[in-house]
Order: sequence, then structure tokens, then C-alpha cells
Amino acid sequence: MSSETGRRGPGRRGLLFIVSAPSGTGKTTLVERLVETVPDLVKSRSYTSRPARAGERDGLDYNFITRDRFEAMAAVGEFLEHADVFGNLYGTRAADTEAILAGGRDVVLVIDVQGARQVRRGGLATVAVFVLPPSFAVLERRLRGRSQDAEAVIRRRLETAREEVAAFTEYDYLVVNDELDACVDRLRGIVLAERARLCSAEQVIAPILESFHRKT
Ligand code: 5GP
Repeated sequence: MSSETGRRGPGRRGLLFIVSAPSGTGKTTLVERLVETVPDLVKSRSYTSRPARAGERDGLDYNFITRDRFEAMAAVGEFLEHADVFGNLYGTRAADTEAILAGGRDVVLVIDVQGARQVRRGGLATVAVFVLPPSFAVLERRLRGRSQDAEAVIRRRLETAREEVAAFTEYDYLVVNDELDACVDRLRGIVLAERARLCSAEQVIAPILESFHRKT
């Protein structure tokens, strides 16, 4: 592990990060920027029954699948967590996450509050971060500025945001997305600090300690 980046090594299990935020907070952009700047950190790709928005690419932004296929996957327990968000189904495939963690890399799930609860209930160790917009008014402006959604959809997202924000106490860290670069820096700080925790850094410490005990 380099001291600057907290690079992960093979032979150790990755850490499972969760990032939740009300829709329109900019969490997807934040996490995409985060994984570009932190080595060995991967953004999980969710499955969804929602149709792709303009500019979204299948297999990159999401795995876009039919509702029938989603339900079939859920029925056989393929999802680590899944939820109905705004009438569409979203889920994280357990095998995808496990492959990343087992390979020694850290993974970030960008999922809603219901999904985060399911992952924790499943007993996996997680580091959960809640991202807040600077204010309700800013969130509303961002959702309207995106102008991809109908008025009814925007209203529903704002109502859900009110409920989701109340769940911030269930998280380990809270960051405000006031300015993109500053917020990415804060997230990066959280990842690096978690990597430096004694329980996460055991593999790094062991050979150093051993070198102290070696007879010269
Ligand atoms: P959007 O349709 O705007 O991309 O996402 C809507 C909401 O679904 C967001 O709050 C997002 O975090 C959540 N979401 C995306 N993927 C997943 C997932 O795999 N599981 C859960 N529980 N929520 C997800």
C-alpha cells in the first residue's frame, strides 16, 4: 500500500463503500470522479428495469434489463440488495460485488436508502456515506435543470428526498455536495482513512512488524 493512495494489494479482501443521496444531488458524477482518482476503487454497476435516459449506455451506466428478467434474477437470490425506486427496479448483483472484493479491490455501491439498509441487514461490513445537497432549493434547481423528467417525476423525487434525508443518521459519514471538486476530495479522504484503519491495514503492517523482529 503506497502511503499516498492507499493502494490495495492482492490477497486481501476489499472494503465495501455505500454512497446514498437524494436523486439530483450529483452522486453519480461524484463517484465517477472519485474512482478516477483513487486506485483500486471500483463503482458497482447496478441492474435496473428503468429505460435508459438519453446519453446513458447499457453495460456502463447501468445494466438495463427488462422487468421480467429483473424479477427472475431477484427470485433466485442473485441480488445483494434490490429496491423499487420511483416505480423502477434497481439492484446490485451479489456475484459482481463479491468478485471485486475477493480480488482485493474496494467497491462503491451508489444505492438508495432502502438498499443500504438491506446490505447492512445482510451482515456485511460497510462504510456508508450520505451525500447532502447544500439545500432543498439547490436540489430542486438541479432536478429541474436536468429537464429530463416530467414535472410529476420531479415532484415525486423531491418528496422522496425529504424522507431520505431523514435517514442520514444511519450512515457513517456525511458530506455536502456544495462544490464538485471539494466534495470529491472529501470522499477521497474517507476512502483513504478507511484503508488506513488498523483492521484494514493488517496485511501492510504484518511484513513491516516482521522486519522489526528479524535478527540482523
Ligand atoms: P436514477 O434512476 O436517477 O439513476 O436513480 C434513482 C435512484 O435509484 C437513485 O437514488 C439511485 O441511488 C438508486 N439506485 C441506483 N442503483 C441502485 C441499486 O442497485 N440499488 C438500489 N437500492 N438503489 C439504486
